[in-house]
Amino acid sequence: MELHFLGVRGSTPAPGPEYVRYGGNTSCVAVARDGELPSLVLDAGTGARRLAHRFDGQPFSGALLLSHLHWDHTHGLPFARALDNPDASVDLYLPLQLEGPGATMRADDVLGRGMGPPNFPITPEGLRGNWTFNALEPGHHEIAGFEVTAVEVPHKGGRTYGYRVSDGTKTMTYMSDHGPIAVGPGPDGLGERHRAALDLADATDALVHDAQYTLEEFELRSGFGHSTYEYAIDLGLQAGARRVVLFHHDPDRTDDELDRIVAGLQDRHGEQIEIIAATEDLVLRL
Ligand SMILES: [Zn+2]
Ligand SMILES: [Zn+2]
Repeated sequence: MELHFLGVRGSTPAPGPEYVRYGGNTSCVAVARDGELPSLVLDAGTGARRLAHRFDGQPFSGALLLSHLHWDHTHGLPFARALDNPDASVDLYLPLQLEGPGATMRADDVLGRGMGPPNFPITPEGLRGNWTFNALEPGHHEIAGFEVTAVEVPHKGGRTYGYRVSDGTKTMTYMSDHGPIAVGPGPDGLGERHRAALDLADATDALVHDAQYTLEEFELRSGFGHSTYEYAIDLGLQAGARRVVLFHHDPDRTDDELDRIVAGLQDRHGEQIEIIAATEDLVLRL
């Protein structure tokens, strides 16, 4: 399995000379079988535009899984030439949303709340190519030939899934936006190592996890629905993950700050687990 990181920033894009090495595009990770083009894409932040480079102008064929509907996970959708393409074939999945007790919403209606006039010129139906829009129930699914487990995780404002993706040989776990403090403080005040998170990350080859805040920042922003570096690494250790990929970098985090933070984390924990900070040109072969 190959993971192509195309956008690794959280919350809002971060262009500018201070952010060049890690990259300023928001969440998008493409998953491929060894030696093949990606057929599964996780989230469609502004990094989704960069899919076009991977596809060399060809259209995408496969599935797009959205973890949730926040702007930083959807704004690349109508600008990704590999997706919005007359010859593309895209099965889009998003977390099933409830409108009231027992009342579920159609996936294209949910997406259309943010994508459509007057907020945006076109609705999801205006995307070119052969699209399907699907509301995904939690549980096990087979999607684009991968085994996919979708589990609800605490975040803020709208239902959010963490995903576990396997090609039958290797496994990756994707928890881009995760606010475990909503479940409880955990042993250190950084959030509960709760069952859903541990199950998703269990013995995974790569835990791609929300690493938005330092400990100092978390004291001020613990209610914003995100995690610290330390939580991401400790969850990986507790779950027996092979490596942790720090992801969803804060938009104010400069390249130099990230270098410093990651070097410190590797000094403290590098003997116990492999720690990588995602960059938007990283290709990880599992
Ligand atoms: Zn996000
Ligand atoms: Zn979010």
